[in-house]
Amino acid sequence: MDLIVQKFGGTSVADTTCIQRVAGRIVRETQRGRSVVVVVSAQGHTTDQLLQKAREITPRPPQRELDMLLATGEQMSVSLLAMAVDALGVPVISLTGAQGGIFTDEHHTKAKIKAIRTERIAQELRNGRVVIVAGFQGVSSEQDITTLGRGGSDTTAVALAASLGASVCEIYTDVEGVYTADPRLEPRARKLLEVGYGEMLEMASLGALVLQPRAVEVAAAYGVPIHVRSSFSEAEGTWVKEDASMEKEILVTGVTADRDCAKIVLVDVPDDTSVLHQVFSRLASVGVNVDMIVQTSKQQHTTDLTFTVTEDEVEQALDVIKDIPSAEDAAIVYDIDVAKVSIVGAGMMSNPGVAASMFGCLNEANIPIQLVSTSEIKVSCLIPRNRVRDAVQACHRQFQLDQLGTSE
Ligand code: ASP
Ligand code: MG
Repeated sequence: MDLIVQKFGGTSVADTTCIQRVAGRIVRETQRGRSVVVVVSAQGHTTDQLLQKAREITPRPPQRELDMLLATGEQMSVSLLAMAVDALGVPVISLTGAQGGIFTDEHHTKAKIKAIRTERIAQELRNGRVVIVAGFQGVSSEQDITTLGRGGSDTTAVALAASLGASVCEIYTDVEGVYTADPRLEPRARKLLEVGYGEMLEMASLGALVLQPRAVEVAAAYGVPIHVRSSFSEAEGTWVKEDASMEKEILVTGVTADRDCAKIVLVDVPDDTSVLHQVFSRLASVGVNVDMIVQTSKQQHTTDLTFTVTEDEVEQALDVIKDIPSAEDAAIVYDIDVAKVSIVGAGMMSNPGVAASMFGCLNEANIPIQLVSTSEIKVSCLIPRNRVRDAVQACHRQFQLDQLGTSE
């Protein structure tokens, strides 16, 4: 029998009406003769509220206890949704991550799925039930509850789709798909019909919040087609899959913005590779993820070392680099009023001049570029945060993204 996995995000199950709408959708799917496994996020802003509660108790809650707390959000939504499906007369059961066989490593709040033991889910499906699994959570080999990082329900859904051999993983959200840009920043943004895994991974990592990057990685590794669509409409959404053939000729598929960055500069450090090594190994040792890095050599054997981290990791970063021997004379400055605007497209791989054209349009709009980084299929520029909207619109215009996709 055809099996599909449907994942509903927090806004899709925000209140009773939403839960009943989702239940109706699930039931319609079963009436088409399909087996359905459902993954749900916590309702609305539940996860943020739980985090807030924890912070009221202590600024640094133990990560294990945080996972214990956060997992309750999804446990609430799976049970409520199961009640709603049951009320429509369809056999259903809700399962926690552990009951669903989601085994992870021990890395609390950022755990990775190690294995999925699907026996229980398979058994329930054979018994003719809809199975509703709590997203975002799993269990470690120590039997402790773990969570998969913010947005982790996407990864639960894709990983389940991969291990159950589902024909598709549908990700239901409050927008109709993946857009050429965030429609809140660029009203002319268009919904894309298809996006390749590689492009989607870049877009998700560069600020498009519609999918957790890890979920895209898992989908690409196992060839799971993802259909991103709205739970509030019947419209076809965006297909994320191998080789988005329709857009092949296109240089740039989307423009993304990420405000969650901060720039740190070590001014006048000795021009010596060991300093570079020390800075980044100290950052790595405390788990700070460094994004863009630029080193500028000056006269007198000194250099300026500039890099970016996420805003919430600035303090931790400053803390570990402040007393590096041989760099203690360096001044350390930081700036959080920055943002990263990126263009993404598999087509730019074989076409020179795309970066030039991005710099050109930003220059024309008088937007200063502070740092640049590139990969085969993206160009990112660090710019002042208050110019994000202008930059997104300038790039959208430059690469004629309003001609892509569909206006539905
Ligand atoms: N509830 C979790 C979060 O808000 C997981 C998810 O929604 O995917 O991050
Ligand atoms: Mg999400």
